[in-house]
Amino acid sequence: MQLKKYPQLKNRVILRNFESPIAYKSATDELYELDRESFNLLIDCDGSRSIKSLVEKHGETCQEILDYARKEELIDFLDGKVEDEFSKFKFVPKSPIPSLRYMLLHVTYRCNLRCKHCYLEKKDVCMEFGIFKLLIDEFEKLGGIKIMISGGEPLLHPEIWRMIQELMHYEFRKVLISNGTIIDERNIGKLEVDEVQLSLDGLPSNDSIRGPGVFEKVKNAIRLLRDAGIDVSIATMVHKLNLGEFKEMEKFLRNYDVKVWMIDYPSIEGDLKSNLDLLADLKEAAKIMAMYGFGDMSHTGKGEYGCGVHLCSSDPAGNISRCGFFDPVGNIKEGLLECWKRLNEKYLWRIDDIETCNLCELKYECRGGCRFRAFTFGNLYGPDPVMCEISKLSG
Ligand code: SF4
Ligand code: SF4
Repeated sequence: MQLKKYPQLKNRVILRNFESPIAYKSATDELYELDRESFNLLIDCDGSRSIKSLVEKHGETCQEILDYARKEELIDFLDGKVEDEFSKFKFVPKSPIPSLRYMLLHVTYRCNLRCKHCYLEKKDVCMEFGIFKLLIDEFEKLGGIKIMISGGEPLLHPEIWRMIQELMHYEFRKVLISNGTIIDERNIGKLEVDEVQLSLDGLPSNDSIRGPGVFEKVKNAIRLLRDAGIDVSIATMVHKLNLGEFKEMEKFLRNYDVKVWMIDYPSIEGDLKSNLDLLADLKEAAKIMAMYGFGDMSHTGKGEYGCGVHLCSSDPAGNISRCGFFDPVGNIKEGLLECWKRLNEKYLWRIDDIETCNLCELKYECRGGCRFRAFTFGNLYGPDPVMCEISKLSG
């Protein structure tokens, strides 16, 4: 190793002092759990200290850690020292416990589609830019690593391009959650986010529940995003009409180089309450979810807690809730930390407080599934029947 080189954290690599320390590559969504020794060393990789001086401070083993960090593209080795004091500064915010990592922003409730299973009430409301700015500033201050801009259809917000431009000043990962129908050749160049998550609820059956012509538009959006080098993820709800389409869907998504496919079973809320005939048989849905995978990292639990432990969301008025399904606990104007504390007093579920789950041998893998879905099946503090069906298949 050349002791005269100067290690520096790469652009878009962020360090967080969560429950345990991590490094996160926000451009590629890769998270590294670190030990304290590696974390302290990476904090010092600011381009102003040579490998020689890092070895003097952190000991001989630090050479091994630096080699690993370079192999994983967490750091670069510079030939010369960084002189600019300001550029050396790598901010590691103080995170609350449980840590706030993910934030879902509903910037508008406007939507151009009327999907039969949508959980949101369509209203002509949009988030003010000032509220948006406050939310992202506070989120960064508390150490958040991924923001998801959602709606309604977020591209219908009159200031969405200004919001996307503003997000470029932040290091956290930026995900846009869209129905895909507005993304076209004219606006793809302005879509400066890391990932776009599109909804696709089947092949022929997609348009039966999302509206005629939607599938072709989504297909075009996937192609445009892929060609623009933006990560594409697909969210699919299992419903009665798409049960036989998953094999073909998998082939289709593979052809389009889609790497993340999130499959879920809908909660009975919003428009789905008037379209209950769309609900798939639980056993059939579980077979599909067991075969093709399910779950979204931002909603999972950790440690002794069930779902959503690192997640909060905001409605267009800046009201903060766990995930949009439960009532808000406050407004961003009262401070995100204050709202986060209230959320964890009221909407944080310990696995051992959930009936049946507390005795289940899969409790630390499943974590009681989705609390809202358990609630719609009759008991907020009971098991999530969808997850129980899946677990029967894996057991
Ligand atoms: S499989 Fe069912 S009982 Fe077990 S933890 Fe999951 S939801 Fe609870
Ligand atoms: S209740 Fe369901 S939607 Fe809400 S955080 Fe938990 S898993 Fe996510």
